[in-house]
Amino acid sequence: MRITIFGTGYVGLVTGACLAQSGNHVVCVDIDADKIARLTQGEIPIFEPGLEQIVHDNVASGRLRFTTDAAEAVAHGTLQFIAVGTPPDEDGSADLQYVLKVAETIGEHMADYRLVITKSTVPVGTADKVREALGKALADRGGSVEFDVASNPEFLKEGAAVEDFMKPDRVVVGVDSDRAAEHLRALYAPFNRQHDRTIVMDIRSAELTKYAANIVLATKISLMNELSQVADRVDADIEQVRRAIGADHRIGYHFIYPGCGFGGSCFPKDVRALAQTAGKLGYDTEIINAVERVNDRQKRVLFDKLKAHFGDLAGKTIAVWGLAFKPNTDDMREAPSCTLMEALWDAGATVRAFDPEAMKEARRIYGERDDLVFCKNGEDAADGADALVLVTEWHIFRTPDFVDLATRMKQAVLVDGRNIYKPSYVAQAGFTYYGIGRSAAS
Ligand code: NAD
Repeated sequence: MRITIFGTGYVGLVTGACLAQSGNHVVCVDIDADKIARLTQGEIPIFEPGLEQIVHDNVASGRLRFTTDAAEAVAHGTLQFIAVGTPPDEDGSADLQYVLKVAETIGEHMADYRLVITKSTVPVGTADKVREALGKALADRGGSVEFDVASNPEFLKEGAAVEDFMKPDRVVVGVDSDRAAEHLRALYAPFNRQHDRTIVMDIRSAELTKYAANIVLATKISLMNELSQVADRVDADIEQVRRAIGADHRIGYHFIYPGCGFGGSCFPKDVRALAQTAGKLGYDTEIINAVERVNDRQKRVLFDKLKAHFGDLAGKTIAVWGLAFKPNTDDMREAPSCTLMEALWDAGATVRAFDPEAMKEARRIYGERDDLVFCKNGEDAADGADALVLVTEWHIFRTPDFVDLATRMKQAVLVDGRNIYKPSYVAQAGFTYYGIGRSAAS
């Protein structure tokens, strides 16, 4: 099939590369000329395991191309995917300007039938707006060409995006015509393992499904983080509690890990956007609002623990392990590391930071500043520090030599933002240990 993808970010690039890998001819188009130039030269602008190889293989085979030329891109694909950003507006609603701009562009250039599929996460009702924007652009130039719109929300996880796309748990397809359903069933047929994973539904339900999925996951995290706050105050160990409640099949072990709050480009903005959608319709989403409030508070927990230990943080040096919002990505959007570092700087502390993939992104965000030292590895970051904070649970941070770390640091204080270390083991090396919700841990 001939496919066009608008937007070559985390979602668009992975979608384009994986669809090319299954034999389609794909054109990826972006307005960011620098990004397209880098991709054309074989440079992958994001870190995503396995992506580079697939991009290179499919560019070499001629099935994957990159362009900034929207007319050429619209001419190429019968299926036109919209995978551009939907960042939060000032009030937290999803900003649809990029999505609608693409719809308009398609309307300006299409010469025959096109199926326009929104993969970006968009509020319920956006397909109607896409149809309207495209139809208007088409009518403005006197064109009358048939088209369908569809919703195909993306569920990939950064850090495992290629794997998730290639082996999806489900593919959600929202359509209002048999023709659109058939195109999308055919496109996703190679990704069905053992049984058909494509769930076809009406467009509005598909649009809502994406928000519903992210909100259920975000709620599990905030609920567990709230319980960890209680555990801290009643001298219990949330990790023992987690192991016991997860054994109940109705609860399960997935997504009940307490930590220092969720970040990333999706959960925070999607939680806010759905609350906005409901609010505008006169419904106050009490649980969803609380998910965000609990998360905002939880992102302060690392700083609060440092503050409780040291009192005054002015002049202190804090080693920060992990800057990305989660392991296996270089994405720092809404990352807990940002909340921590900014609070530390406000308090007059210096940060010595290391992340295996996100250092470039951190430099882009914060630039060069005296109170941020970029280090070459975890040990280097710990040198001379008053405390070490584990923020992102990258594999390389899992089993450090704590005895060596204690000798490097000015004070052996460890704040474990992901509860990955065994408190008694760390204590043997001379550390004062603080975890999340585990004041009773040993
Ligand atoms: P991103 O910011 O990484 O990439 C968006 C890209 O779109 C940018 O390269 C930008 O230059 C490009 N763009 C903007 N306007 C354009 C236009 N008119 N024509 C062509 N390109 C244009 O975004 P992302 O993380 O890939 O997210 C894209 C969408 O997918 C969002 O709605 C997001 O909520 C959703 N989503 C993201 C993830 C994720 O893990 N990142 C997962 C599922 C869904």
